[in-house]
Amino acid sequence: MLPAVEVSQSPESKFREYLASRPKPQRYTGQQRDMLRFIFAQHNHFDAEQLIDEMKRSGLRVSRATAYRTLAKLVDAGLLRRLEMGPRMFYEHDYGYPAHEHLYCGQCGKVIEFQNPAIDAVLGDVCRQHNFQISGHTFLVRGTCAECNRARVMKRRLDLV
Ligand SMILES: [Zn+2]
Ligand SMILES: [Zn+2]
Repeated sequence: MLPAVEVSQSPESKFREYLASRPKPQRYTGQQRDMLRFIFAQHNHFDAEQLIDEMKRSGLRVSRATAYRTLAKLVDAGLLRRLEMGPRMFYEHDYGYPAHEHLYCGQCGKVIEFQNPAIDAVLGDVCRQHNFQISGHTFLVRGTCAECNRARVMKRRLDLV
């Protein structure tokens, strides 16, 4: 986890503003409020089903349809960003959280966050070359984490015995 970024508005008030600014203004519902508070209580990489399960376990009720619809709105409002990791779609905070990249372990599903100014510099150069206005990027490295690698080497050793 990286240190949070100072933001002027709470995620909740930013979302309310988004709903009110729609061509057809939308109501902020109790289920949406529960979801937003639940999601923003802790930085995480989660998928929709995981979120629904964890909310249920915490005694919060949210319908599957509402969960999916609200996640899409939270992305549109700039509060969450979508990450494609493996076959599933994950979400994480975008608002109030610094830009970062990911290492994704295909064995255990671990996600390691990192920042590297060299990557930002390269992206800046490439965009300048193409006169491209950057609004965001996703950079995901797939592979095997240290623990899973160690387990693999151990197993290979045992197989040799
Ligand atoms: Zn792993
Ligand atoms: Zn992340």
